[in-house]
Amino acid sequence: MADVSLHFERPRLAVHVQARVHVADGATHVVLYDPRTDTTAQIGLDDWHLVQQADGTRDLDALCLAAARLGIDPSEAGVRGLFGELEEAGMLCDGLALKLRTPPVPPTAQPPDDTPLEILEDFSLTCDGRGACCRFYGSVGFTPVEALRGRLQAAAVSLPVDDADLFVPMSGGQIDHPDEPLAVALVDGRCAFLTDTERCGIHERAGALAKPAVCRIYPAAFVHDGTAMRVSLVPECACIFSSLGVPGGALLTPAGATKLGDIEPQVGFREVPDPVPLTARATASRAELRRWSLDVHALARRADRDAAGWALALADAIEATGELGAVDIAPAPLDAARPWVEAFRVAVTAAAATQDAHRGVTDLSRRAARWAADALATRDPLTEPANPADEGFYLAALAFGHRLAIEGRPIARGLRGRAARILVARAMAAYPPPIDPAAAHPLALVEAATRNLGISGFGDDVD
Ligand code: SF4
Repeated sequence: MADVSLHFERPRLAVHVQARVHVADGATHVVLYDPRTDTTAQIGLDDWHLVQQADGTRDLDALCLAAARLGIDPSEAGVRGLFGELEEAGMLCDGLALKLRTPPVPPTAQPPDDTPLEILEDFSLTCDGRGACCRFYGSVGFTPVEALRGRLQAAAVSLPVDDADLFVPMSGGQIDHPDEPLAVALVDGRCAFLTDTERCGIHERAGALAKPAVCRIYPAAFVHDGTAMRVSLVPECACIFSSLGVPGGALLTPAGATKLGDIEPQVGFREVPDPVPLTARATASRAELRRWSLDVHALARRADRDAAGWALALADAIEATGELGAVDIAPAPLDAARPWVEAFRVAVTAAAATQDAHRGVTDLSRRAARWAADALATRDPLTEPANPADEGFYLAALAFGHRLAIEGRPIARGLRGRAARILVARAMAAYPPPIDPAAAHPLALVEAATRNLGISGFGDDVD
């Protein structure tokens, strides 16, 4: 460590780096992830506390003094080694963070309260109470007020994380703004508040309204398309698929809600871009997207055609015409998806190796990544049986919720990526799964893993 050079005078963790506290197999450490370079580093808790002292105002001497105050190795070589390694990994910046000027574009305006809600029909959520959605996400965001509520509950129960380490900034090493969201510590990949009986400890002790907003509204997703607020879901939890055809579950919005003003104000939403990118050269209006998405939603759950092949055919039609045209078309041969599946295999195999290094053996993220990597190494996804019910609903929910329009990629590319995810799930279903209720619907895990493991761009270099 002593030979590592440190060039920055007053280091600070770069604001794009995500630090997360993990308790893995009984030991606590902090994983630093740089999404720009897909680099991961692991440091101990003492080092993390020192990194938090490096706020861009302290030079090496001041950091040594800070280390002494924290009761950790105050030697120059030790401090230089820690920050030198982080600098070498591209995770530091020098000095105070620059306050960026407000960009010369107006912020997204909140749609008026009378904006109509268009809600995914025939769906209500029957949660199996086994906490799959609380065991998978690398970042569960709490507002400062929600974190305070959580801390009050944590004081009454015994969590395996000290209060000071229970929350970290969502990005960077310091809290720069009092409204900044915070990420909760994870215990073997589980939210620190998930109890041994797979219940939310906050909900159990203080009621549903005490939970963070992201957990209260999960799995609902709100997307404004200029005319209405579409309310669909992120199909990332096995309970969503096992709820299909089961009446009487929890609705995506409060009963009777018909307009935006009827739902809680903290609900975040995304805006469909205008125009909507279809391919590298073609765009469509938001009105055209509204019509097309309803057409896809109406036909997606027909079991008589292969969902992956249909997604490929829809992408081909958009590429060929530069328009959002008719959707009642025959599926394309699955061979076209092979480069996309291969790109997914490469990305998830690398992610599985990273997960193996930093997460505990029972961690669902780690097991899901390994499951996908091993399944793709041994199975040919193009020849495995389909799951028409899950796959049809998956495409219907994504289309209705304008999901493909808000991910920063053209719609045709998004469709091919989704065809690949469907095929990956088929391979996983044909391979021995981890023993876990979350594995019952592999498509949910593929969808969640693609976001959670930071591999959403797996197909960006295909073509
Ligand atoms: S706060 Fe509760 S509901 Fe939210 S992830 Fe944690 S355990 Fe689950």
